[in-house]
Amino acid sequence: MPGTTEFSVIEKYFTYDVARDDVVLGVGDDCALLSPPPGKQLAVTVDTLVSGVHFPVNTPAEEVAYKSLAVSLSDLAAMGAEPAWATLALTLQDVNEQWLEKFSTGFKETLNAYGLQLIGGDTTQGPLTVTVQLTGFVDAGKAMRRDAAKPGDRIYVTGTLGDAALGLKLLAVDDLPDPAISKACINKLNHPVPRVEFAQKAVEYCACAIDISDGLMADLGHILKASACGARLYYDQLPASTEFRNCATYLKSFDYQQMILAGGDDYELCMVASFENEKALFSLAESMGVLLTHIGDVDASGKLSVLDSHGELIELKQSGYEHFAHE
Ligand code: ADP
Ligand code: MG
Repeated sequence: MPGTTEFSVIEKYFTYDVARDDVVLGVGDDCALLSPPPGKQLAVTVDTLVSGVHFPVNTPAEEVAYKSLAVSLSDLAAMGAEPAWATLALTLQDVNEQWLEKFSTGFKETLNAYGLQLIGGDTTQGPLTVTVQLTGFVDAGKAMRRDAAKPGDRIYVTGTLGDAALGLKLLAVDDLPDPAISKACINKLNHPVPRVEFAQKAVEYCACAIDISDGLMADLGHILKASACGARLYYDQLPASTEFRNCATYLKSFDYQQMILAGGDDYELCMVASFENEKALFSLAESMGVLLTHIGDVDASGKLSVLDSHGELIELKQSGYEHFAHE
């Protein structure tokens, strides 16, 4: 991108007032200068969204801005970290002022909502691509790690499962039986709400968590592999929204089991905690208005099994969820 345009874009759309004391120098110099708080560890994550790959080409700019931050905020939540700083690498096809205005407004709103400061980035020309890097703070040793599950621990999930996957399917359905259902599910797909606040408090009771971006089975699988454990999931305990359940009665053709167990993009947290912390974890969730459900238990089997209400093994269509302990 020609120099003058690049600098005017940065100045006009990406230079915001510095509100955080820990930002010594923000956008505008060769580097940002930051003063991390003593005693904290930094949690750092980066995600790229490519137009036409990670979001449909004509997605409104505000939604692209929101989602680019939400997916990384969900990673901070999965560690229990407090959001602090953001960098933005933006590749633009051309300088479309209308698009930039909307993107910048949406981006700033979400930054403010989570106490984040934009401290730098890069602006280049090419196919529309948005890369957001976030840094958060967590007390040393308190982050919820994937390798911290132990046999006997309990497995929980926040919110409900499968809504975003259902939303994606419903985008392609023309005559919907009930528009309220598709609205709720498509909203979950486009506007996932990362569990940032709950996660920061949950670190007191929970050593291990992951955010569900690829589906419950796959993401819990990452925990089991990193922790060299196995687990049982209780299918009837998996939480589904009213909209999801209603849709299942209207539209029989979808594979709802697959959506609940393997649907991506919900950005809920799958958390593992020891049984002795269960009461405290549930009271915390209740006090914060977060739905939290016990969905399974960690064991030493080295595989992930899904059981029905009689404790019988459910045969799954999808495979590849076995042998976590010995890979
Ligand atoms: P350099 O050539 O030294 O890397 P740049 O010209 O890429 O500097 O950027 C100039 C300043 O603007 C830097 O402080 C950089 O962090 C910031 N910046 C560039 N693009 C963005 C953006 N999209 N959002 C926020 N800050 C940006
Ligand atoms: Mg640069």
